[in-house]
Amino acid sequence: MSGLSEFSLIKQYFEKYTVARDDVLLGIGDDCAIVQNKTDQQIAISVDTLVEGIHFSPDADPESLGHKSLAVSLSDLAAMGATPAWFTLALTLPAVDLRWLAAFAKGLANLATQHKIALIGGDTTRGPLSITVQVHGFVDAKQALRRDGAKEGDNIYVSGTLGDAGAGLKLKQSQLNNISGTDTDLMFLQQRLDKPTPRVELGQQLLDIAHSAIDISDGLVADLNHILEKSNLGAQINLEALPISNELLSITGREQAEILALYSGDDYELCFTVRPEKENQLLKNIKENYTKIGMITGGDKTIFTKSGQKIELTGAGYEHFSTEG
Ligand SMILES: [Mg+2]
Repeated sequence: MSGLSEFSLIKQYFEKYTVARDDVLLGIGDDCAIVQNKTDQQIAISVDTLVEGIHFSPDADPESLGHKSLAVSLSDLAAMGATPAWFTLALTLPAVDLRWLAAFAKGLANLATQHKIALIGGDTTRGPLSITVQVHGFVDAKQALRRDGAKEGDNIYVSGTLGDAGAGLKLKQSQLNNISGTDTDLMFLQQRLDKPTPRVELGQQLLDIAHSAIDISDGLVADLNHILEKSNLGAQINLEALPISNELLSITGREQAEILALYSGDDYELCFTVRPEKENQLLKNIKENYTKIGMITGGDKTIFTKSGQKIELTGAGYEHFSTEG
C-alpha cells in the first residue's frame, strides 16, 4: 500500500467517530473545516502534543492514549470555564497498525462523545509516534477564568484528590519505596495516570464564582505558582488540608502522599480561588468534590503550614521532572 492511501484510510477511520453538531457547517474532507461562531461568545483555544518516550511509554495502552490525548486538552478548556465545541487531531505514526488505531480511536471517541466535542479536521504523517490535539470551546464574553484574576484574601480550592497520577507514574518506574496497599489501590493510581478525568462541568459551574483557575498538569505548587505570578500575589497552603485518596494513603502513607500531592503532575484536577463571601454560592452550586487548601496572600511567596506551624519544603524545581519518560 502506498503511503498516501494508507493515510487516507486513517482519515476514513476517524471520520466515523465525529460527533454531530449543528455549528459544524463543513467537517473533515475539505481543505478547511467551516464552523459557525456565536456572536455573544468568545472562543477558547488550546493545543497539546504528546510524544512517545517523553509523555508516554512505547508500551502505552492505545485506548488510554486516545482518551488522554483529548483529556489533557479538555482539561485546559475546563480551566477557563469553556464549553467544548470542536477539535483537530494531528497524528504522526511510524506505521499503520489498524488494531492500534482502532483502540486509539475508541478511547478518543468515547471521551469526545461524552463532552459533545466534534472532530473537524486533522493531519496524518509518517514518523516517530506523536499526537497533537487542538481544542476549541465557547465561553461567555469576558467571563473566562484566567490565571491573573486571583485577589488577596481569596480561598484556594482544588477538585478531587491530588498525587494519584504522580504515584501511578512512580510505581510504573519503580521509584516508590516502602509501599503497601492492595492491587485495587495500585490499579486506581494507574487509572488516574492513564485516564484522567477533565473537570469540564466544574469549570463551567465556577464561571460566576471563582476569581481564577488553572488545571493541575505539572503539580499543585508549579501550577498555583502560575496563578500567583500572573496575579502578583503569594499563598499559604495547609498541608493537612490536601485532599489525598484512600488508595494513595494506604500505599504511601500521609507524608509521602503530601509531597506527591504538592509536586507531582498529571492529575488534571482544577485549582481555583474564590472570595470568602462566595463560599455559600460554592456550597450551593458545586456538586463535585472540592477542598479548601489555603488562601491567597500579599507578597510573592508560598508558605506551607501544618497544624498551624510553618514548614520548610525542599521540593522546589521539581516541575521539570513531572512529565513521564
Ligand atoms: Mg493547563
